[in-house]
Amino acid sequence: MGAAPGEFEIIRDFFASAPQGQGVVLGIGDDCALLQAPSQGQLATSMDTLVAGRHFPAEADPAAIAARALRVNLSDLAAMNARPLWFTLALTLPESDANWLRKFSSGLLQTAAQFGVSLVGGDTTAGPLSITIQVIGQTARPLRRDGAGCGDSIYVSGPLGAAAAALPVILGDQRVPAEVQHQAEHAFYFPEPQFATAAAISDFASSALDISDGLIADLAHICESSHVSADIYLERLPVSPIAQSLAGANALSLSAGGGDDYQLCFTVPPEKVESVEKLELGVTAIGTLSAGAAEVRCWHNGEPWQAPSKGYQHF
Ligand code: ADP
Ligand code: MG
Repeated sequence: MGAAPGEFEIIRDFFASAPQGQGVVLGIGDDCALLQAPSQGQLATSMDTLVAGRHFPAEADPAAIAARALRVNLSDLAAMNARPLWFTLALTLPESDANWLRKFSSGLLQTAAQFGVSLVGGDTTAGPLSITIQVIGQTARPLRRDGAGCGDSIYVSGPLGAAAAALPVILGDQRVPAEVQHQAEHAFYFPEPQFATAAAISDFASSALDISDGLIADLAHICESSHVSADIYLERLPVSPIAQSLAGANALSLSAGGGDDYQLCFTVPPEKVESVEKLELGVTAIGTLSAGAAEVRCWHNGEPWQAPSKGYQHF
């Protein structure tokens, strides 16, 4: 068991030694970090908060919590086709626990190293366990939500439904063999930001976002921003094998409506579809956009399909 470090020991012992990557003129320790703005493109920034008991169980492995907190933020940069540069961390802790902090910080800094992003500051406070990360990246060819047009094809970048199907396992409501437990934890805590796919499609895609709240809910955001209507054909959805084994008959509906997979949903104008298909990215065309009210219509084997629930909304 470790001692209970104070606020300044926490910063010094667990975060201040984070390696400082490119563009960091002054890192952790002063009132602000000083960052060299890239000479080209635009800065992209985004923030996500994970609250214990709402986004993850409080007793989860701290390294896994850290990995998820950073990965979901990086996913937003990926969805914008931005390269990660820096991040800050606002950490609220119910108690000072050196053991917990050691695991959390090693998971965090390992993930940061893997994606080439450096921790340059933050804030440390006492309160209910919550982790807020702000990421900053750089992009020369941003992928926005508002560029889609009628006739565009709708794509998803990879398998869906795994994280939503994993949730009952993560919450301890569904008991599964150790191997499946491991797969479920991986799907939930280690989503893969889709940097490579975003870069590859950036010359061709008319819009993109990452699927955090569920395909139907997130595609609706593209429809609203781009003033188009969507039809998707659920028999085409790439349902994750993990979702299939965990959720059985419910896997399709989790793939359409469940969140947390962090795959991309993107659209491609008809004249560019062939170029995207040639890239062999493993992406799947699931529908098309047309003129009309901003809504997502779902079909399954030719029949209208009713979504069982809306995407997750906090309020
Ligand atoms: P101030 O009182 O000026 O706001 P703080 O005492 O909160 O500064 O923080 C001191 C330094 O440590 C700052 O550079 C801040 O960005 C950094 N810092 C504080 N908490 C964290 C954290 N959890 N992770 C990384 N850096 C942190
Ligand atoms: Mg402060």
